[in-house]
Amino acid sequence: MLIKKNITSIPLPLTKHDLMLNTSSFFFVSFFLPQEKQYVGFATLPNQVHRKSVKKGFDFTLMVAGESGMGKSTLVNSLFLTDLYKDRKLLNAEERINQTVEIIKHTVDIEEKGVKLKLTIVDTPGFGDATCWPDIWKPITDYIDQQFEQYFRDESGLNRKNIQDNRVHCCLYFIPPFGHGLRPVDVEFMKALHEKVNIIPLIAKADCLTPNEIKKLKDRIREEIDKFGIKVYQFPECDSDEDEEFKQLDKELKECTPFAVIGSNTVVEARGQRVRGRLYPWGIVEVENQSHCDFVKLRNMLIRSHMHDLKDVTCDVHYENYRAQCIQEMTSKLAQDNRMESPIPILPLSTPDVDTEKLIKMKDEELKRMQEMLNKMQQQMHEKDQ
Ligand code: GDP
Repeated sequence: MLIKKNITSIPLPLTKHDLMLNTSSFFFVSFFLPQEKQYVGFATLPNQVHRKSVKKGFDFTLMVAGESGMGKSTLVNSLFLTDLYKDRKLLNAEERINQTVEIIKHTVDIEEKGVKLKLTIVDTPGFGDATCWPDIWKPITDYIDQQFEQYFRDESGLNRKNIQDNRVHCCLYFIPPFGHGLRPVDVEFMKALHEKVNIIPLIAKADCLTPNEIKKLKDRIREEIDKFGIKVYQFPECDSDEDEEFKQLDKELKECTPFAVIGSNTVVEARGQRVRGRLYPWGIVEVENQSHCDFVKLRNMLIRSHMHDLKDVTCDVHYENYRAQCIQEMTSKLAQDNRMESPIPILPLSTPDVDTEKLIKMKDEELKRMQEMLNKMQQQMHEKDQ
């Protein structure tokens, strides 16, 4: 970018004498001479950011929620090609009845072409097994709030340089493929979470449905999401200067939600190739085949195209809401405490209205009068002493 455009806003030295005296100003002038097309070099800023980010590494926290047995662990393993659940202990029916919603965190460091990603999966097993389902999301919302609270504390603390971001950036919500749309528990669950986290709804085990059934179920879910005012993650608008191919991909991505997914931890042979899939007596369902399911679209969106936006929305919308609420609560609590301790009412810290301003003025004048009286009395006492 040329500096030429900025010339009018820069104060130039007035005389030749000034120029001779002030060498730095001289440098300034010659540097900004309109006829010269010089580049400062800030075009390399993206490279600097890139280098710094790569060096620092990236972190991403993904929550998976939904009924147990819906294929959450299988899908996570398929998405990141890891075995995050090798130590998982599957509970029997009796243990599951007594189990409450328990949050389990798995962390794995993944490296690809020198780029490091610290991936945290927050698992919510037992969901759907609990008998008193109205409370099943409480531990989950509490967990999300705790991460916000921790971040808020770290941000307000002394060592802000090395803050670890454990905020939940995205929640994959698994909707069962059986049934005719959202169940009441799905509606309640998503509504309990939608102000706190980016929800991406998924149709689990899509290989149980025919393409026509998938289409119908997707339409129904979209309708119900609208009807119940559930705020799922909204893909950002595509920039108008993007190329046509990108715009088309973006459109397809938006139309495809909720993603119908299939997961598998096994590699099978299909059409002479080894692929991730599910082997049935009647054929093979391929996880990465776009005519079989939306797994590839979900993976591309989550990892390649929208990871940054998910983090931005978490930070700019969900965390900001939490922070604003926190500050408001703290301020009103402080005002309340002060009011209790002091006989003079302490006003809230928000912008004072007309009445409040009047009251402040009156109190100021009262204080002034008292101060004047005190001064007078002191003066009189002083005169008497003499
Ligand atoms: P989680 O409890 O939600 O983590 O579910 P799991 O990943 O442990 O999967 C439960 C069962 O469903 C296992 O037997 C999986 O092999 C099977 N499963 C996982 N994904 C799919 C899928 O996409 N389609 C079908 N048909 N079965 C699946």
